[in-house]
Amino acid sequence: MIISIASQKGGTGKTTTSISLAAGLARGGRRVLLIDTDSQANSSKVLLPNYQEIDHSQTLHATMLERKPLPIHPTPVPNLEIVPAHILLSNTDIELTSAIDHREARLKRELDVVKDRYDHVFIDCPPALSWLTINAFTASDRVLVVVSPGYFELDSTVQLGKSIANVREFFNPELKLAGFLFTMSEPTNNSATSLKILRQTYTDDVLNTVIPKNVDLREAHFNQQDIFAYNPSAKAAHAYQALIKELFPL
Ligand code: ATP
Ligand code: MG
Repeated sequence: MIISIASQKGGTGKTTTSISLAAGLARGGRRVLLIDTDSQANSSKVLLPNYQEIDHSQTLHATMLERKPLPIHPTPVPNLEIVPAHILLSNTDIELTSAIDHREARLKRELDVVKDRYDHVFIDCPPALSWLTINAFTASDRVLVVVSPGYFELDSTVQLGKSIANVREFFNPELKLAGFLFTMSEPTNNSATSLKILRQTYTDDVLNTVIPKNVDLREAHFNQQDIFAYNPSAKAAHAYQALIKELFPL
């Protein structure tokens, strides 16, 4: 099962959700691959202590622009491997715009070669509909849409829904929604109203699990750790464990 973790809006919790799902499942004994498609390389920097020494030829950049096999790196988390991103991926869109050969399927072609080695593959997407996101959706079975409280955050789901529909129509007819995940939930009116509107709009597609706003997540990332290593009794650790159960029932 290959799942893209996406939102058109920045800072909704995509990377945090990618790391937490991937690390939680890997710590539970599943073989997991995380692919970082965001040029900010946030998940790469958390999960690879030596990230700064990694050359762009050993990152997703090599696959996207030179059509090389996926450069897979081990992480300190047992059973978890990662394909890191690179800042040069920010040019990918411009370069792929003039490519004529399967520019939507470069990730899929290389992922197809290695996917059988894993129980789960997660793709951490950039906050934009770019060729990188299209590559992620084309390679995926499902898209998990991450939504945090706020008017713009809710509004951005409409555009993302259109993008998913477009990829389904042109590149990947099998693409399905894994659901809408509400993150950074707080005991405020704004947060409660946002969740209510999300549930009214997308009904059963909204996941039951809600991720609370929890400072332990930020601290875990500062320490280059996933939440389960940093503080397994944190509220967010319990919430992400519940999400794993909801998404992947035994
Ligand atoms: P981008 O669009 O820039 O890639 P993103 O959607 O990947 O952002 P994250 O990087 O996961 O979002 O989260 C943004 C910031 O909020 C980070 O500093 C992260 O540590 C923090 N954060 C994420 N989820 C939570 C949460 N549930 N509670 C508190 N802080 C959180
Ligand atoms: Mg991110």
